[in-house]
Amino acid sequence: MILVSLACVPPSFRPLTPRPAMRIHAFALAALAGLVTLPACAQQPAQQPSSQPAAPAAPRGRPEDTEFYTPVPPVVTPAPGAGLTTGAPSDAIVLFDGRDLSQWVTVSDGSPARWTVADGIVTVLKSSGNIETKRRFTNYQLHLEWRVPPNVTGTGQARGNSGVFLASTGKGDAGYELQIMDSYQNPTYVNGQAASIYKQYPPLANASRRPGEWQAYDVTWTAPTFNADGSLKSPAYVTAFHNGVLVQNHVALKGQTLYIGQPSYTAHGPSPIKLQAHGDPSPPLSFRNIWVRELP
Ligand code: MG
Repeated sequence: MILVSLACVPPSFRPLTPRPAMRIHAFALAALAGLVTLPACAQQPAQQPSSQPAAPAAPRGRPEDTEFYTPVPPVVTPAPGAGLTTGAPSDAIVLFDGRDLSQWVTVSDGSPARWTVADGIVTVLKSSGNIETKRRFTNYQLHLEWRVPPNVTGTGQARGNSGVFLASTGKGDAGYELQIMDSYQNPTYVNGQAASIYKQYPPLANASRRPGEWQAYDVTWTAPTFNADGSLKSPAYVTAFHNGVLVQNHVALKGQTLYIGQPSYTAHGPSPIKLQAHGDPSPPLSFRNIWVRELP
């Protein structure tokens, strides 16, 4: 007896009226006679009929597939105080001036951001998750300062991990991450160390300061553009300085950050800037002096 799945039957053999038995029987005879072939489709498991929309495909592969350890960026000791500021330019939008988080919300539910503000700095409250700006941005110049606590613990990615998503495209870690973590004498995969475009571009140099010292990012973000059909028109570009040292030089991003799998683009418009509350158990980082200047 020959069983033929209707899902594998070429359209020209599919019955247009409810007389499947006769048509399938004819198709089976044709297959037996070598008139048609049953290629890869014949090896696929039978599909269950469903009225539910297809679930997104699970990521394929392993995280390690997109983690690289060479070449190691050269260590560059930044000049004392390089990159740190005492204020913002006159045309900047100040996102955090040391007083409150009125410009920020909790990513998961849109409620007011609950990270801890004290002594002019804000410290990650890991239990409340990522925070992002209320405002949405397209192209901009960004300045922010961050500090790994002096008592940081852990190794690799589990040591002082945070991040700034240059465009937040959804909940969780959706977006494009410029990595923040302790990369002072703390090796990890080079495309995941501080100042990397996570899992896309290692930094040109490791300009990390030791834990307990303030560090600075100065970034220009050129947002990706999309055609009317949602396809990519032009990629995102990032230039970044870490403590005054050039670490990303107008790199064209390959898409949104992915922990597993290859980056790809999904069309979006103006987006918030997001800060990461990473789930590792090391003591939380702090931030200060965050401002942005919108660009044409
Ligand atoms: Mg991170």
